[in-house]
Amino acid sequence: MPLDVFMALVLGHPEHGYYMCRDPFGAAGDFTTAPEISQMFGEMIAAWLADMWMQAGRPDPFILLEAGPGRGTLMADILRAVKAVPDFLQAAQIALIEISPYLRTRQKAALKGFEVCWYDGLDSVPVHAPLFFVMNEFFDALPLQQFSYQGGSWLERKIAWDGGRFTFYDEPVQIDPVAGLDLPPPRDGAVIEVAPERTLFMAALSARLRAQGGAGLIIDYGYTRPAYGDTFQAMRGHGFSDPLQDIGLSDLTSHVDFSALARAAQAEGIDVLGIAEQGAFLSALGIGLRARHLMQNASGEVAVDIQKALHRLTHSGEMGALFKVMGVGYGASIQAAGFQE
Ligand code: SAH
Repeated sequence: MPLDVFMALVLGHPEHGYYMCRDPFGAAGDFTTAPEISQMFGEMIAAWLADMWMQAGRPDPFILLEAGPGRGTLMADILRAVKAVPDFLQAAQIALIEISPYLRTRQKAALKGFEVCWYDGLDSVPVHAPLFFVMNEFFDALPLQQFSYQGGSWLERKIAWDGGRFTFYDEPVQIDPVAGLDLPPPRDGAVIEVAPERTLFMAALSARLRAQGGAGLIIDYGYTRPAYGDTFQAMRGHGFSDPLQDIGLSDLTSHVDFSALARAAQAEGIDVLGIAEQGAFLSALGIGLRARHLMQNASGEVAVDIQKALHRLTHSGEMGALFKVMGVGYGASIQAAGFQE
């Protein structure tokens, strides 16, 4: 079985899939995401989306879309923050793409009082209005393929069941997975990752933007130029685990190749408004100022927590440099905040 087929099953199998029946987030879970660290993350995203919506001429209605909303924390923070923006909430139709029935119930609880529609995929999201969207740690959950260069030819990484356990093996392929990529020739042992599902999702999203108008942000850990390297990983209990052990109990992910997403968007005629490190992006949007305001009104202990959260989200030794933010948009001449050098 190719790696991408394995990963899609491990994460999304209706009964045993990792995301299907559990809450993977927080201290008791397997990993923590930016919106779970602080409300300030969602507030910055809200400001960016509201600015884009205003630059687009305040379309009413519009679709406020999130893919892979987890516990619903980010969308709840966005909806709270945009109360200050006249007419935004009245015009917004909230759309969530989520495969996990369990996480849908969590999202429903987090977004109580709002009218929300859930979708299994992008195909069923309505087409009648502009899209303004955010996707945080969504693309890394979509499956990838791996190829390694050995003895002068490319092999695809696959997974076998030997009767007692899963093992990796490599199978020769006819394709050249690095064809057309801006990369030096491979050395023996080089690994390249490609993720057709991610590229296809980005292409479909871009086609929607072209047809419907709008703009959005994609945020994830990843890299901005094509690169060799094995980034496939399993996470369990806030540490790395063996991806072939405890199937369905640990999260499988890999770093996102933003250059591949950018090419997919551009091929659909969509503008990449910028790609920035998360720390620089959030700082340009004023997260430092926001933290100071919150700290002024907080007790000593809470103020320390706010300072810690700011550090975690923006410092280059924490999430600030590993995580990237890519803005995409279509229509009018857009000036996207957060991407200045
Ligand atoms: N954005 C959230 C959660 C990230 S985890 C946060 O930042 O906290 C990934 C999310 O994507 C989960 O909600 C998971 O159930 C969902 N997901 C994973 N694969 C998916 C797929 N193929 N289609 C739709 N949702 C998916």
